[in-house]
Parts: sequence; C-alpha cells; structure tokens
Amino acid sequence: MSESTAQAFEFKAEIKQLLDILVHSLYTEREIFLRELVSNASDALDKQRLTAASQSNGSGEGDEAPLDIHIDADKDAKTLTVADNGIGMTKDELIQNIGTIAHSGSAHFLKALQESGGSGADSIIGRFGVGFYSVYMVADTVRILTKSDKPGAVPVEWVSDGQGSYTIREIEGEEAAAMARGTRIEAHLKEDLAEQFTDVEGLRHVIRKHSNFISFPILVNGERANTVPALWREPKFQITKEQYKEFYSFLTYDQDEPLDTLHLSVDAPVQFNALCFIPEKSKDFGGFDREDWGLDLYVRRVLIQRQNKDLIPQHLMFVRGVVDTEDLPLNISRETLQDNLLVKKINATLAKQVLSHLEKMAEDKDKYAKFWREHSRVFKAGYMDFVNREKFAGLLRFNSSSCEAADELVSLDEYISRAKLDQKKVYYAFGPSREALKLNPHLEIFRKKGVEVLYMFEPIDEFVMDALHKHKDFDLTPAELAKPEDLAALPDVETAAAEAQAAPAPEQDALEALFGRIKAVLGDGVTEVRASARLTGSPCCLVNPDGHTTSSMDKIMRAMHHDSSIPKKVLELNPKHELIRNLVALNQADPADPFVEQAARQLFESALLLEGYLSDPHALVGRIQDLLAKSSGWYVKTK
Ligand code: ADP
Repeated sequence: MSESTAQAFEFKAEIKQLLDILVHSLYTEREIFLRELVSNASDALDKQRLTAASQSNGSGEGDEAPLDIHIDADKDAKTLTVADNGIGMTKDELIQNIGTIAHSGSAHFLKALQESGGSGADSIIGRFGVGFYSVYMVADTVRILTKSDKPGAVPVEWVSDGQGSYTIREIEGEEAAAMARGTRIEAHLKEDLAEQFTDVEGLRHVIRKHSNFISFPILVNGERANTVPALWREPKFQITKEQYKEFYSFLTYDQDEPLDTLHLSVDAPVQFNALCFIPEKSKDFGGFDREDWGLDLYVRRVLIQRQNKDLIPQHLMFVRGVVDTEDLPLNISRETLQDNLLVKKINATLAKQVLSHLEKMAEDKDKYAKFWREHSRVFKAGYMDFVNREKFAGLLRFNSSSCEAADELVSLDEYISRAKLDQKKVYYAFGPSREALKLNPHLEIFRKKGVEVLYMFEPIDEFVMDALHKHKDFDLTPAELAKPEDLAALPDVETAAAEAQAAPAPEQDALEALFGRIKAVLGDGVTEVRASARLTGSPCCLVNPDGHTTSSMDKIMRAMHHDSSIPKKVLELNPKHELIRNLVALNQADPADPFVEQAARQLFESALLLEGYLSDPHALVGRIQDLLAKSSGWYVKTK
C-alpha cells in the first residue's frame, strides 16, 4: 500500500501573527488552551448530535458509541491528547478552519490587541477564546488526526510546529480503516511545561475550573472530570453564588462577578428556563462588535445554537446567558428558528423580564449607575420597542442642570416629581458637554426660572426623546423650542439675571428701527429679527422658525442628506442687553453707522458658531480683530 505524501502549506499572515504572540506569550494561565480544545471538541460533538438527530427524525441519538471527550496525558512521551468522536473535518474543512481566522475568538483577540496599541497581549489572552492556536502556548509540535462523518470522507493528518507552515497528509489503507469518526489533537509539550500538563490531578482541576459545564463527559486518563449538571434547569434555591459565578465565567470568560444574575423558569406563554447575566463591563472595545452577542439556545439540555440573536432584542445585547426550552423539536434547523413563533414569544417574555429586573436593580442607585455607565449606549436603542415603552422610559437616566456633578443621574420620574407647579413639560437640551450647555443662550430663561433641563450628550438621546414624546402626562420638549410664554408665569429665581432684566428696554420704535436695519444687513440669512423673551445674559440667539426641529436634530438630518447649507432661522435679540441698547442708540443717531452693520454680522455669525453651523470662520475672526484694534485704541486713550 502506497503511503500518501504530505503536502506543505503556509499559514496566513494573521495566523502567523497570532502564533507568534501565543508562542512567546508570558501569560501565566497557559492552561486555557485546554478550555479551547475542549470547547472545540464539545462543539464538534454538538454538531454530531444534531446531525444524528435530524437523520433519525428527531428521535435522539442513534445506537452509536456515546459522545464524549477523552483527554490522555503521557508523562514519558510528554504528550497530551484531546480526542472527540464528533463531526470531524474533511481535508478541505481542515485547511479552511485551521488555516484562516474567521469569526472566531481569535479575530476578537487580534482586534482588541490592535485597539490596545499592540501592548498587553498577556493581559487580554484569557478574556477571549483564542481558539485552537492557543495550544502553541504549551506545545512545540501539534498533530491533528481527523475523520469527517461525511460518507466516504478520507481521514487526514495535520502537523505543525507553529512556526509558519503546516503539512497535511491524506491517510489511506489500513491506517484509515482503523480510524473512527472524530478529531484527535496530539500536543507534544514544551520541555519545561511537560511535567505540569501531564499531571492528571492538575488536568482534572483545570477541566473543573474552565469546562465544568460542558454537556458531554470529559474523561482524563479514563476518569470522568466534569460533574456539573445544566445549572439553568436546577431549582434556584439549590444554587450557590459561587456556582452562578463559575457558570458565568465559563460562558463569558469574564473572571469578575457578573453585575447581576437572572435565573428564570417560565411556564406561560411558553415554557423555558433561562440563566442570564448582566456583565459588569460592556464588551465594547471602542466601537461595538455587532456580532458577538445573543443567547445560547438549548432544547432539553442539548445545545442547538450558540449566540442566537432572535431570543433577545438587540438593545438588550449586553445580556449573556442560555435559554432552554422543551417546546422545540431537537432537530430544528437554524433557518426555521429565525421565524419561529415560539422563539419570538421567548424573546418578548425575556424582554419584559429583563426590564422588570432592571427596575428592581434601579432601586440600588449605585448599582444602577454602574449598569448605566456600561450599557446605556446599547440600551437606549430600545426606544423602538413600543410594547414596553413605559418601562423603558422609566429606566432612562440623564444628567441635568440640577445635578451637582457630571456623573449624577436623573430619571424622568425624578424630574417630574420636582417640576414646578404648573410646569407641564419635561425640558431637555443637546450639547457637547455640561460646560457648553451651561453657556447655551437657549437655557438662560430656564436658569432664570429655576426650571430643570435634562442634558443630552449623545445623538441617540434626541431620537429617544422624540420617539417617546410623552412621559406620564408630561410632554418631552426640547428647551430650544420651548415657548417663552409657557415659562413666563413662573417666578424668577436668579437674582443676578433679574437685575440684568431690570435695565430699561429701549423704546419700541427705536428697537423696531434697529431690527429693520439688522434684517436689511443680513438679508435672506435670517427669516426674521425680533425681540427675545428667553434671553437674560446673552445678546442674541437663533430660533428655528418651524418650532419643531432642534438644531442638533436638524444637523443630523442634513448630514444624512449631504446638505451643507445653513438653515434660515429667526434671530432673537435681547433688548435689555447693554450691547443691543447701545446699538439702538447708535442707530438712532445715524441710521447708516457702519459699526451697526459690523456688529449685526458679528452677532449673527457668533450665534451660528454656537449652533455649530459656521463652516468658515475667516470673516468672523477678521471682524473680531478689527473690533479689538478699535477698542484697544479707545482703551489706550482712557488710560
Ligand atoms: P473557533 O473555535 O473560535 O471557531 P478555532 O481556531 O478554535 O476557532 O477553530 C476553528 C474551527 O476549526 C472551528 O470553528 C471548527 O470548525 C474547527 N474545529 C476545531 N476543532 C475541531 C474539532 N475538535 N472537531 C471538529 N472541528 C474542529
């Protein structure tokens, strides 16, 4: 019988990079390679179980040998073998799967490494499923023997020292005939690690630490090591906090405690058990990973699909966990899962349960603040969930003008509870920072009246408020669009502002004349020039004439439509402001005074600048320099 020859292949560049990091890593918990190999084996067994189930029409396992994972250590040969009788791989699959980094944990790892600026590989290895390659943290040579369950599949051998290339050989003849279905990974251990990773007790300990919840038997040198049943199907009162934490770490690789745990057993409208966690840290490594979420779906303790995204709404993607139902058939295909009514019902029930759970969590302000800091960016997208709108609104938090500190949070209900008598609206304003909002001229009247304004810092906040529209009996209204008459009746609270307002307003005719002049100067740049009832400290601001689009929302819309024109707005002037009063006087003395024109342009462009519409500051800067030159001249004379 002719022995087939081995073919040599090069690893892809990204794998070389990964291997290089892993081979040279000083990561102390190298043992996680076993977690990776066992979880690959378990996946292969899951796939095998599903294939068998669908072939036998859902009646369950056939008459074959039980599906399990064998770990065998050989001290003398310095080898460690992980073998499964799962689905196996064909030659093409082997090249495809072990030769490239697809969507796996390895890709996430490399991405996080990049984002960390290339440093700190050792500190992030453990947090990701670094996959098969992690075996090179402990091995100098690895051999894979695998035989696919596909009829007529030729078994293959893969060998590599992890230095950049690998070989593949098709196995033929007697050797092939003797091989059973499945995959066998033989690691020849590095000299200095051989002792540690052939120690049977040590290996059993590692299995219990990382792989206790694997649903197939794991045998270390013939003896079963994993012992824990499917925790989510156990009665709650029997489970300790440590067990939950252990399961959470198994599921997420997160070694910290989860922020919260939800263990549900639901009977109606669908039967399911769920064990879910809210992690203390979001998985968002700058820019969030759209794919890495979902709940693992089990049917009667058999894993059907990892990270199923139909089981939970996207805005609750921070929830990690498993769902197990008795109501689905074992051989259900992934395609049918997508439109499955039952899955939809589980989704709706879970959404409600998670929101109720958050409501309870919110009673503990510090804990909820932690949740909010980490997960609110994702959570806010829930404004589209109309069914749970009330609950959703109750869970929102904002910083506001009444907060002493930037990290303080206010709920809509708190806002309402301290609203002024006769105040019928919840006011909010969008801005880049607290400091900027404190200087926003539109908010002056709110400061004067002591009316709280919720601060919005992220564009989605405005979409949320816009979509909710109302909370309890209160309209949610942008401060910028508030009607001054709605606030006029409220007493003033700010005495400094009240004093500024005590200055005499110019005569109506003279004021109108100034407005006419300014409108003539600005032409079509503004729709109208008028007196403002909302300003106290500032001379002017721009107001949207349609009264229902805020400038920030307008900007988002314009960006979406690639419209870079400047919207036409009403210029409101504060008649009691010193500058406006001076302009009235100058205009009265000489209706052609060039200073009035210069001041009008300057006021308008600075208002545009504050609203973020001024794209070319040259004219504005030129004017400021001119005005400074003039005023310094006057100043020198008076000295
Ligand atoms: P990941 O498991 O995160 O996808 P790996 O690098 O660990 O990444 O594995 C890549 C792929 O190789 C797996 O997705 C799977 O298709 C295949 N594979 C790995 N181990 C086995 C195994 N024991 N049996 C069958 N296929 C396997």
